Amino acid sequence: MNTITIVPIRAFQDNYIWCVRTGAVAVVVDPGDAEPVLEYLSSEKLQLAAILTTHHHGDHVGGNTRLLAKYNVPVFGPAREKIPGITRALKEGDTIEVPGVGLTLGVLDVPGHTAGHIAYYGEGVLFCGDTLFSCGCGRLFEGTAAQMHSSLAKFAALPGDTLVYCAHEYTLSNLRFARAADPDNPALDRREASARAALAAGHPSLPSTIALELAANPFMRGGDPAVAASASRRAGRALSGSVDVFTTLRQWKDSF
Ligand code: ZN
Ligand code: FE
Repeated sequence: MNTITIVPIRAFQDNYIWCVRTGAVAVVVDPGDAEPVLEYLSSEKLQLAAILTTHHHGDHVGGNTRLLAKYNVPVFGPAREKIPGITRALKEGDTIEVPGVGLTLGVLDVPGHTAGHIAYYGEGVLFCGDTLFSCGCGRLFEGTAAQMHSSLAKFAALPGDTLVYCAHEYTLSNLRFARAADPDNPALDRREASARAALAAGHPSLPSTIALELAANPFMRGGDPAVAASASRRAGRALSGSVDVFTTLRQWKDSF
């Protein structure tokens, strides 16, 4: 069996279209732009076998139609959203065999950023779209803070060594907020050093891991007394529980 590699294809300002490849076959996750994908496939002499999508935003599905014009491949995506070219509508509990690359992935419903957002998890990897970023999380465009909080809790329950493939390079800007929300956390220094080193070498600061996010991501650390205390200071009142802390952090970051 060929080994799987997962490589980033850059798009727009800061999007990553993750490309899962094995042998001469490739699958892409969230191809917001067809152009860089077509260039990559042609320069690497790869055949596209499938498209995976996490949610309906244009920077994640904008390339589907053009890719489908060249490659007649299945498109996997959330059942509750409108995805161009979708052939397989997914919800939590579904399992897919990703065509051509020998990868089995389960589906998680992770509403919050959008109402029907899904994530793909299996074999030690997580494609989380715009739900989880390193040291941050997606904005609440369609869902509630309580939904996003419970979506992140699903990720928190995954094995610590799970590799987290986020769809944007937001790590350093998220760290600026994390330092305000969780100022005495030494994990932030380590994360910033590793992110800066990766970026300076021309690589993404990703994948992250679940363990790293549990240590450094304030949005996954609402149960930590220091994070809860700083959220409470920000709110100017006592907060009742982790959803309240999460809600305060998310509002704080929106105006940070
Ligand atoms: Zn989005
Ligand atoms: Fe996005």
